[in-house]
Amino acid sequence: MQIIDGKELARIIRSNLKEEVEQLKEKGIQPKLAVIMVGDDKASKVYVRNKSKACEEIGILYEEYLLEETTTMDELLSLINKLNEDETINGILVQSPLPKGLDANVAFRTISPKKDVDGFNPINVGKLSLNQDCFVSCTPYGIIKMLESKNIEIEGKHAVIIGRSNIVGKPLIQCLLNKNATVTVCHSKTQNLGEITKTADILVAAIGKPKFVTEDMVKDNAVVIDVGINRTDEGKLVGDVDFENVSKKASYITPVPGGVGPMTVAMLMVNVVKAAKNNM
Ligand code: NAD
Repeated sequence: MQIIDGKELARIIRSNLKEEVEQLKEKGIQPKLAVIMVGDDKASKVYVRNKSKACEEIGILYEEYLLEETTTMDELLSLINKLNEDETINGILVQSPLPKGLDANVAFRTISPKKDVDGFNPINVGKLSLNQDCFVSCTPYGIIKMLESKNIEIEGKHAVIIGRSNIVGKPLIQCLLNKNATVTVCHSKTQNLGEITKTADILVAAIGKPKFVTEDMVKDNAVVIDVGINRTDEGKLVGDVDFENVSKKASYITPVPGGVGPMTVAMLMVNVVKAAKNNM
């Protein structure tokens, strides 16, 4: 069994980006990301801090807009529109979840597709499904990079995704299909889940339930990707996979922490640099 070290792979990606950003600066291009956060969701604060740290390390300019919980949809949309028009900003990101009463889908579709570095605007979602050049949402993009980093064959393999969220499960279906996998997607209403997951060559868990995937659900030598981030009562981070037991069966497995999480942030940085280059 081999561990796919997302932390190390993300470090290499950031280090390559740093060099690229230095070269862009010599050409007078300075990538810049604007992050909007509404309210003070605890987990979102951690994610936003990780994104700002990554920007600082790479040399991407970073602007943060922290809005009150009571912000109205009109106020949020008018800020997004202002940032859309600001030529110095290449990427715009609205951190989810938004407080009740604010519609994230409306916010995402208001972000200019050219600055939509999270890949949540319907234009980018549509382009991904047509296998056209676009901003790919960062978690699925990171998962593909992790598989590629180990030369894991995707073409012709049976990939099973547990979870059909708009930010992970659904875009990952397209990413894996674009790489010629045979893709099955499972969700909370799926029957005989374990029977399906046991046929997976590549099994991805994006559920949000600690240690949900147990060894009896996994085929021998499967590649297991754990997207879940769950905090235990003791404050420890655990994934959706029972790592200790599943790792004995898997050929490759991603850890939590240090797996998909750091890759998501690294791919966001890749997208911001891509947005800046698209503007050249
Ligand atoms: P979500 O809550 O939007 O979706 C969860 C999905 O799991 C749903 O599609 C649901 O149908 C499915 N599900 C729930 N119970 C199930 C069951 N009993 N059997 C089968 N399927 C079931 O979640 P999300 O936003 O996709 O996030 C999933 C997990 O991944 C969370 O732990 C989240 O924190 C984590 N996450 C991590 C990253 C990262 O960068 N590592 C990024 C995004 C999300």
